[in-house]
Parts: sequence; C-alpha cells; structure tokens
Amino acid sequence: MTMSIRTRAVAGAIGTLSVLGVVAAPASAAPQLPKLPVPRAQTNLTELTSKHHDHPAVDIPVPVGTAVYAVIGGVATRFYEAGGCGYGLNITRGNSVYTYCHGNGTYHVASGATVGAGTLIMRSGNTGSSTGPHLHVQVKIDGQLRCPQNLMKAAWNGTQIDPQSLPSSGCTY
Ligand SMILES: [Zn+2]
Repeated sequence: MTMSIRTRAVAGAIGTLSVLGVVAAPASAAPQLPKLPVPRAQTNLTELTSKHHDHPAVDIPVPVGTAVYAVIGGVATRFYEAGGCGYGLNITRGNSVYTYCHGNGTYHVASGATVGAGTLIMRSGNTGSSTGPHLHVQVKIDGQLRCPQNLMKAAWNGTQIDPQSLPSSGCTY
C-alpha cells in the first residue's frame, strides 16, 4: 500500500514538472523562417543590409503605401510616436520585439493579434521623425537593440537564422 501511494505521488510530481516545462519553454525557442518586410520587387539586398544612421536598425526606402510584412511572427501592438517612430507597430515574440516605423496610419492587424512571419501588418509612410518615405525596422532582444541586417539577408535568401545571434553593434555609421 505504501509503495503504491509513493508511486502515485511521484507520478503526480512528474506530471506537474512536465506542465511547467511546457509553460517555461518560450515560443521563441524555435526560430521561424524570416520573411521580407517589404515586397521583394521593391527592395534589394544592398538596401536591406545597409547601415543605419544612429542606433542598430535598418532603413528601407519604399514609397508611401508599400505593404509591410512581419519578418518574424508574434503578438502585434500598434502605437503612435510623434517625432519618433510615427505610426508604428511592435511584434513581440518571447524576449524579442520587432518594431516597424513611419507607417502611413493604415494597419492590417489589431493590437493583441497574433501574426505569423510574412503576414501583411501595415503600410509604410513618412510619419514621425522621417526625412523621406521609408520603412524603419529594428529588433530588440532583452531590451537591447540588435543589428537586423543578417536577419534581412536571411529573409532575402530564404534561409533560417536564430535572431538571438544578431550582433548588437557594427551596423551604424
Ligand atoms: Zn531608421
């Protein structure tokens, strides 16, 4: 009888640990195949991997109204930042936040929506601190800006990359 009870107790503990393990494993553990943030016909590898003027990010020149796609999927949050990002969208995935700036105010996803890589999320524009129509893309991991150039290159080439491997410097001028 005693053995039987102990066995059941151990089984219960293992069951609990398994449940915790599932909860603790972040969705970001499995890298997604990244997708281009703008239509392929409207950009090129040079633009996608160009250095940014101040902090780690990339500016992709595209006309106002260009379709913007999620590079990596996650949970969307719309925001507006006058004098900065303008009409922006954050896509949060685990410890990472992908930010798209200077939109024209047209969104294709609601705040709180979960989107996959390649989902049409908004339209580009020239809002906020912007000197010409372009899409600004930046990646923050654990609150630290990372250089998205290798992610853009992987999206262009259709290859896999772990965003956690993106460097935090070397992409500014
Ligand atoms: Zn920028």
